[in-house]
Amino acid sequence: MRNSVSVHALRAGNLTLPENKFLAPLEDIESRRTVPSLSFLIQHCSRVTRKTTRLVFDLGIRREPHFYQEDIRRHTMTREPLSGRPDVIDSLDSGDIASSDIDMVILSHVHWDHIGMPSDFPLSSFAVGHGSLDLLNGTKVLSNGGHSHFEKDLLPMERTVELPDPTRARIHDEQVDCHQDPVFYLGMLSQRLWRPFGPVPRTIDIFADGSVLLVDSPGHLPGHINLLCLVNLDPVRYVYLAGDACHDRRILTGECNIAEWKDPKFPDKVCCIHLDREEAMNTIKMIRSLEMDGNSLGEVEVILAHDDQWAKDAEKRGRFFPGAL
Ligand SMILES: [Zn+2]
Repeated sequence: MRNSVSVHALRAGNLTLPENKFLAPLEDIESRRTVPSLSFLIQHCSRVTRKTTRLVFDLGIRREPHFYQEDIRRHTMTREPLSGRPDVIDSLDSGDIASSDIDMVILSHVHWDHIGMPSDFPLSSFAVGHGSLDLLNGTKVLSNGGHSHFEKDLLPMERTVELPDPTRARIHDEQVDCHQDPVFYLGMLSQRLWRPFGPVPRTIDIFADGSVLLVDSPGHLPGHINLLCLVNLDPVRYVYLAGDACHDRRILTGECNIAEWKDPKFPDKVCCIHLDREEAMNTIKMIRSLEMDGNSLGEVEVILAHDDQWAKDAEKRGRFFPGAL
């Protein structure tokens, strides 16, 4: 039976982006914009056991820049004004939720402004997209800018699952049983199959009840994932948590393009905030199709992790936790 979840926006710090690294064309190439790094609480109540399972999607910015390792901390200086307060822990606390109430933290990707402080969640498990662990352990090294530094010891490996490779077929099908405890599904994530859902080519239905779908959303960074959450059954309404698939709503609407620039140190190389610009563009097109009128799923609200306008509006309308989306 189909189920829905409640989704709550969490304040998790602000950073300042040089717009010429994100958006083109620009009237003022020196312009900078202070934006949030949004995180979300998702609460799922099992129709069978009545148990509530809580997920947090992204952990935002650390409350103190010096809690980052040195090369990330140096990069944070290029993103000032920067603030890590309130952080995810403060935001959860505003609705009387403690980190010990969180069953799983899912990271959209492992860039510094989304990873927060995993050590604040000593009882939770963690899920990351395929390829994230290679970035963290240094097996894969990227050279597309100062934002691509990673911490080896970020996640507790004994409590972390990496999602399966979306480009490969799995040998074993999932053993989904709707009567299982929801926590059972969290433990099985690494063995699940990616399946199409409406216009979305690769999803994993976390609780096997249609309430929360992990979405493979490649292009920005290896392992980049989004969440599609069913927040209302009748009429059907989803929120789509887009992480860094897109940094500005004007790119989503087609008014602007993804920026590219030249690094004077490497004049032959074209730089982009997305590791694979073409793949990022395909992901954006997929997200655009979700939001369009008449899509097969029903109403879908897309929320970009760094959308300052969305956050201002959400603030006015009481949509931050303990409010709901
Ligand atoms: Zn990012």
